[in-house]
Amino acid sequence: MQNRVGIGYDIHRLVEGRKLILGGIEIPYIKGLEGYSDADVVLHALADALLGAAASGDIGEIFPDTDPKYSGADSSQLLKQAADLVRGKKFKIENIDTVIIAQEPKLFPFKKQIQKNIARILEIPEDCVGVKAKTNEGLGEIGDARAIAVYAVVSLSKEMSS
Ligand code: MG
Repeated sequence: MQNRVGIGYDIHRLVEGRKLILGGIEIPYIKGLEGYSDADVVLHALADALLGAAASGDIGEIFPDTDPKYSGADSSQLLKQAADLVRGKKFKIENIDTVIIAQEPKLFPFKKQIQKNIARILEIPEDCVGVKAKTNEGLGEIGDARAIAVYAVVSLSKEMSS
C-alpha cells in the first residue's frame, strides 16, 4: 500500500455584492468572496490538496482563470474533476481535513452542512471529512473580515500490484 498526503491553501477577499459560498453551501452574510469562479475558497484549497497528493499540479494549471468556461464556475465541479483525476491515477481518497479561517460570519452553524456536502462531492463517508472553523483573533486582513483563508490536507492510498 502506498500512502500520500497533500496540502492546499487558498485565500479570497470578502467584498460586497457577492454571495458567500463555502464548501458549496451558501452562507447568509453581507459580503461574499471575490473571484473568477464562485470563489469557494474551501473547495479550491481541497482541490489543490488532492492534486498535490497525486503530484498532479494545481488548480491554476488545470482550471485556468483565462478560460471563459470557468467564469462563475461552480467549484463543486472543479473539486469533482480533481477527485476524478486522482482516482484516474488509482488513488483512493482516505480522508480530508480543513481549517477555515474567517473572522466573520460565525461558521459554527454551517460546519455540519459543509462536511456533508464535501463528503457528497468526493463520494467519501462523512466521518472522513474534517471541517474546522476559527477566527484570526482580530489580527490582520482576515481578522478585519476582509478575507477568508483555508488550509486543507488530504490523505490518499493506492494498492501496489506485486
Ligand atoms: Mg481560489
